[in-house]
Amino acid sequence: MAKYQLNLAHLYGNLLNTYGDEGNIIALRYYAKQMDTEITSQIVSIEEDFKADDFDLALFGGGQDYEQMVVSKDIPKKQAELAKFVNEGKPLLAICGGYQLLGQYYVAADGTKIPGAGILPHYTLTQSDHRTDQANKARFIGDITIKNEETGQEYHGFENHNGRTFLGEGERPLGIVQEGHGNNGEDQTEGAIYKQTYCSYFHGPILTRNGELAKRMLLAALKKKYPTADLSAQQALKIAPTF
Ligand code: GLN
Repeated sequence: MAKYQLNLAHLYGNLLNTYGDEGNIIALRYYAKQMDTEITSQIVSIEEDFKADDFDLALFGGGQDYEQMVVSKDIPKKQAELAKFVNEGKPLLAICGGYQLLGQYYVAADGTKIPGAGILPHYTLTQSDHRTDQANKARFIGDITIKNEETGQEYHGFENHNGRTFLGEGERPLGIVQEGHGNNGEDQTEGAIYKQTYCSYFHGPILTRNGELAKRMLLAALKKKYPTADLSAQQALKIAPTF
C-alpha cells in the first residue's frame, strides 16, 4: 500500500479525450508510484455530480468542437464546484478544448460562440475570423517547444487547434514559444497558469513528455492534502529528461 493517496477527476473523460489526453493519468500514476502515492481516478461526465471536496487532482482534456458544445451545456451545473476547486489551489490540468472551456468563451470553426465556465479570464477566437492573412488562416498543427519563465524548463508537445486564445489578467503563460504557434500565433505565449491550474494546447500527452510538470502537480496535490507531511523524498525525485 502506498503511503499517500490522491483522487483524480477526469472531467468529461468519455467526451473530451482526443489524441489520448488520458495518457496524462498514466503519466501521473507512473511518477506518483515513485513518490509512494497511489492515484485513483474517475470520469465525471455530463449529468454527473462534481464535488470539489471529493477530488485532489483533475484533468480536463481536449476534443472536437461538437463535443465541446455538448460539454458546454453541462458546465453551468458544475461551474460553482469547478471554480471552488480552481480557487482552492487544487491542481487541474486543462488541455486544448478543456483549456478553452475553462475560460470565457470559444468561437468554434463554424462561428458558433460556445460559452465557457468563465472561471479563468482568457477567451478564444476562431482562426477564420480572427485574421485575414493566409498564414494565419489555418489550424495550428505541429510540434511545439516552449520555455517556462519561472523554472527555465523546456516543455515539448504537439499542437492541433483552431482556437486562438488570449490570456487575461492574473494568468501567466505556461511558457514562451520557442518553436510552433502557441496560444494565438501572435504574442509568443503558450498555455496558462493560474494558481495550480495548468492549461496548455499540448497533446502528446503533455505529462508523458514533460515529467517535471507531472511532478509539480503531484507535489502541489500532496502538499494540499497532507499539509504536515515530510515530502522531502518526493521533492527530491529526479525526472529523466524527455524530448
Ligand atoms: N476544438 C478545439 C479547436 O479546434 C480544440 C481542439 C483540441 O482539443 N485539440 O481549437
